[in-house]
Amino acid sequence: MAGIIRASAYIGGAAVRRFEEAFAAYCGVKHGVGVGSGTAALTLGLKALGLRPGEGVLVPSFTFVATAHSVIEAGGRPVFVDVDPFRFTLDPEACERALKREKGIRFIIPVHLYGQMADMDAVSALARRYKLTIFEDAAQAHGARFRGRRAGSFGAAAAFSFYPSKNLGAYGDGGILVTNDARVADKVVRLRDQGRPREGRSKYLHPGVGGNHRLDGLQAAILNVKLAHLDEWNERRRTAASLYTRLLEGHERIRVPSIAPHSQHVFHIYAVHVRHRDKVLERLRAEGVSADVHYPIPLHMQPSMRFLGHRKGDFPVSELLARTCLSLPLYPELRPSQIRRVVRALDASVRGA
Ligand SMILES: *Cc1c(COP(=O)(O)O)cnc(C)c1O
Repeated sequence: MAGIIRASAYIGGAAVRRFEEAFAAYCGVKHGVGVGSGTAALTLGLKALGLRPGEGVLVPSFTFVATAHSVIEAGGRPVFVDVDPFRFTLDPEACERALKREKGIRFIIPVHLYGQMADMDAVSALARRYKLTIFEDAAQAHGARFRGRRAGSFGAAAAFSFYPSKNLGAYGDGGILVTNDARVADKVVRLRDQGRPREGRSKYLHPGVGGNHRLDGLQAAILNVKLAHLDEWNERRRTAASLYTRLLEGHERIRVPSIAPHSQHVFHIYAVHVRHRDKVLERLRAEGVSADVHYPIPLHMQPSMRFLGHRKGDFPVSELLARTCLSLPLYPELRPSQIRRVVRALDASVRGA
């Protein structure tokens, strides 16, 4: 850290390069390009992968809004697909229906929601059959695995966020695009920095157009230190999640999250599902439990997406999840006694709601 300040390497520089290499290797992918946020990784990634103006991109209707906004920011158009009621990720059959309805779709963005990967067997099969480019939104899934392979290593490219609350978080905004394709990586390098290539001949020569979506040197240095702890922190998240599940499983009014076959969940979020969710949430908060909701509005119902012409009822699973999901506190330092207290408060809240 002191070295960065001494060298005034506040933007880009050796710490960024070191982190890009370390994180790409962690994912089992060749190239990493650090950017200013997860949203920038998604937007620049879509541009680098060759998204054309107005082109449709398959996106789940239940995710953080950035997944769809980045498609629009990159000039495309989100084509929403409902999610699987247990995995909360893209429903492969719904994808197939959308692909039959609208011919010519070339991109699919599986979101590994809450820390569990989408069904990448089904997504890969769809991609082969319909010639789709897979772009993973792995912003909630640092270190997650499917069939032993890490999130970020399945698609043509993947986007990660280092927003402070993510499993790997910076002390501010940050993100990265990972890919095995050197050309895609090089395009993102240019798009993040005024069109300049990595090894530019001159600081003021711009072979192409680009914006400013760079990663800070200080954030990269922090991320470099934290990356060494990621697996241990994920393991602690999993241990906390399994205690929640053990204590809540079988409760008549609470549905616990399920872990899909071949999947290693990293529990960015531990979400249960309850009726009268808003009342339960209010009671929990009154008890001092910092529960939350991810996410209360499915994307097709967002005012920002109104122009797509959807209405209530179009994606029933997403709408049901948005009404019933409740995220319990989960972080690596959470102690068993705290988990038991949350469970007692939750039990009392659902009975009283
Ligand atoms: C956090 C998040 C993003 C965006 O990341 P930022 O760094 O906040 O821009 C995108 N997609 C998902 C699923 C996220 O959770």
